[in-house]
Amino acid sequence: MNYLSDKAKGMKPYVAGIQPEGGGWIKLNTNENPYPPSPKVAAALREAEASELRLYPNADSASLCEAIAGNLGIGAENVFAGNGSDEVLALAYQAFFSGKQNVLTPDISYGFYPVWNQMYEVSATYVPLRDDYSIRAADYKGSNGVIIANPNAPTGIALGLPEIEEITAANPSGVVMVDEAYIDFADVRSAVALIGKYENLLVVRTFSKSHSLAGLRVGFAVGGRRLIEALRMMKDSFNSYPLGRLPQMLAKAAIEDAGYWEDTRLRIIRTREETAARLRGMGYNVLGSGANFLFMECGDAKGIYENLLAGRILVRYWEKHRIDRFLRVTVGLDSEMEEFIRCIGKLTKPR
Ligand SMILES: *Cc1c(COP(=O)(O)O)cnc(C)c1O
Repeated sequence: MNYLSDKAKGMKPYVAGIQPEGGGWIKLNTNENPYPPSPKVAAALREAEASELRLYPNADSASLCEAIAGNLGIGAENVFAGNGSDEVLALAYQAFFSGKQNVLTPDISYGFYPVWNQMYEVSATYVPLRDDYSIRAADYKGSNGVIIANPNAPTGIALGLPEIEEITAANPSGVVMVDEAYIDFADVRSAVALIGKYENLLVVRTFSKSHSLAGLRVGFAVGGRRLIEALRMMKDSFNSYPLGRLPQMLAKAAIEDAGYWEDTRLRIIRTREETAARLRGMGYNVLGSGANFLFMECGDAKGIYENLLAGRILVRYWEKHRIDRFLRVTVGLDSEMEEFIRCIGKLTKPR
């Protein structure tokens, strides 16, 4: 007997980077933040009342959404919070893309998009990036929907706000989803600035990267009231309480410490630029990054990946057309990047 549904039989799930047990690893494979969360998060955790956990949380994460809205200068009715931005994106797929044809997405982007295209029966068109791995905004028009990551992953390349606006304006009959998981590390403006002007724009963000809270699982979407209401409706048809009391409270504590966020964000940007400059000095082709990772070309990338792994350094490699000579390396602590550069220098010659 095969008990699987037709959908389950054919699914090709997303493959996340390895989360090793135990210490001794230099972990540069899943774009986690190398710095701990704000001390205000730690304090809020210590002060949390276990007895309150007998009660369900606020179903709509109302006070967290208010805090996010206050931080972004928008209304709370423009914010939807979920259990990681992966869940927010999956709900957005169900609300806006399910069963549609001609949804446009880059051929090289976040590996979850093709999984959701399959899961929610979306016939997507995979639009090739330019030869320099950038997104050409003019290629995205007249569709039933668009999903792009900005900065893009795993390339790290960011599009400016005028190009995001061009894409949003050129696809008025579909929702344009902009996944801004890495925007805080980029020198371009967030598309949140456009949500009052375009009712088809949905911007998705996460606390996992720039707020050092990957383990908490909090993401959110920002958009016009009608899109946000549709997300709530899908959420209430799936899991009314996606965010527990602790994630709601701790994510709020994280936003309230803007100074710490700014300090760690700038440190990561500085380490990124120093590491990129050193690798380029060694002769490697490193794409310009607006994220907390670098995408570097290094010949036998697979062999280097395996050698680094044997030395307990984890990076990311994909055996995929156009990017199979690249490694994606998360920006860690200065000391970790030092060790990475020492090892890569022993293992390889550029190209
Ligand atoms: C990390 C990442 C996410 C997922 O973030 P979570 O909030 O941890 O689920 C979404 N999109 C992109 C492009 C990412 O790199």
